[in-house]
Amino acid sequence: MVGEFLKRDSSNDLTASAARNEADKCARCGKCRSVCPVFAELKDEAFVARGRIWLFEALERGEIRATPELRKIMSACLMCQRCAETCPSGVRFMRVIEAARERLSREMGLPFGASFVFRHILTRRRLFDFAMRSVSLLQRIVPGERKGNLRHLPLFFRGGKWLPPFAKNTALQLHSGGTRVPGARVRVALFVGCLTNYVYPRIVSSTIALLQKARIETNVPASQLCCGVPALAMGDIGAARELARRNMESLQSAQCDYIVTVCASCGRMLKHEYPDLVGGSAFSVPVLDVSEFIKNHTDLNLEPLSDTVTYHDPCHLRWGQGIASEPRQLLSSACQFREIPDNMYCCGQAGTFHIFYPEIAGLIGRRQVESIALSDADYVATGCPGCILQLNDLMAQAGIRKKAAHTVEILSRAQFGETMSRGVSAENHFDPQ
Ligand code: SF4
Ligand code: SF4
Repeated sequence: MVGEFLKRDSSNDLTASAARNEADKCARCGKCRSVCPVFAELKDEAFVARGRIWLFEALERGEIRATPELRKIMSACLMCQRCAETCPSGVRFMRVIEAARERLSREMGLPFGASFVFRHILTRRRLFDFAMRSVSLLQRIVPGERKGNLRHLPLFFRGGKWLPPFAKNTALQLHSGGTRVPGARVRVALFVGCLTNYVYPRIVSSTIALLQKARIETNVPASQLCCGVPALAMGDIGAARELARRNMESLQSAQCDYIVTVCASCGRMLKHEYPDLVGGSAFSVPVLDVSEFIKNHTDLNLEPLSDTVTYHDPCHLRWGQGIASEPRQLLSSACQFREIPDNMYCCGQAGTFHIFYPEIAGLIGRRQVESIALSDADYVATGCPGCILQLNDLMAQAGIRKKAAHTVEILSRAQFGETMSRGVSAENHFDPQ
């Protein structure tokens, strides 16, 4: 069955052909070396866009073969898109890395657990809920260290990840369906994403409360699934396409004016990958990140907090969607805003990257955490639940008494006059003891 959905079909050829077109544009100038976080740590030409393009072309010409070493090189990329943003030749490197991973998965196979999860669990919400509840239970009963609300899961994560506990009620359990707002001028369909759903439901609560205040109705379709980023990142384009189709049906059934996302990676996937996966435009209404939507489509009157807050750019928001000014402008009106002194680093999370390459992820993330430590901010706002998880993990490990939270949580505190002293996302964030 695994071979069945990894077999070559015309869409695989399209993926490879688009990637070859992008690879052809590479002028071998090496400018991507100056911005790549992985190259900065490893100083190895194979681990930067130019080297990977060269290897992809050699693979396509049959000069090299699919090997575990080549798979390691192709999978040790954050897919952060800094190289594409910097590239003077306009190489869309994501096309190359996705095609390389797809080919390697097709020729070498995916780990059975991964293909089973993508195909049979992510596509079934109840089964996914059951699997997450089981992990949550294990998280409570497996002996391990504990730091504040973060728990050590030595059996599941190499490198000793500190994770927040899973939420008692998921965002979809709490908020599925519509929120009626008398006199609403706009309706949005909210795409939640897995990490927000299972670990940070308060991000959705804050978003709905803010939009309600702005007289905007929110619909959270219960049938939405994982956006498909993990499947795409591991080269299972068939599974990613199936999830894209199911989410398009789910979100379009809400019949809204906008689709709003609260996760940078989900947002980039819906905006930029779905059209390529399904062909043509995926949605008939605009897809916007929540910061983009609140900045441009609401007139919230925020009461600035006295707390000092800085901002971490998620790669998939800044480089993947070109969104940098909107969250900063919102935070400037909601708190005492400070920039991180040197804010060009990635947190190192990058979906599954931090699980498969915890050492490199830790090296990359610690650079950003060291910069954050230099700021006098108490809180770090960001637009991606993955960054929240990674930054709180690394700050806890480094003994830094700051908390990461979603931008909408800070805005919600400012809008509704709540103090930050009891901690943002108190139910599931690191609370220094
Ligand atoms: S910056 Fe662009 S053109 Fe230059 S080597 Fe990197 S991918 Fe190729
Ligand atoms: S996507 Fe990011 S990690 Fe990957 S090659 Fe480009 S700059 Fe490096």
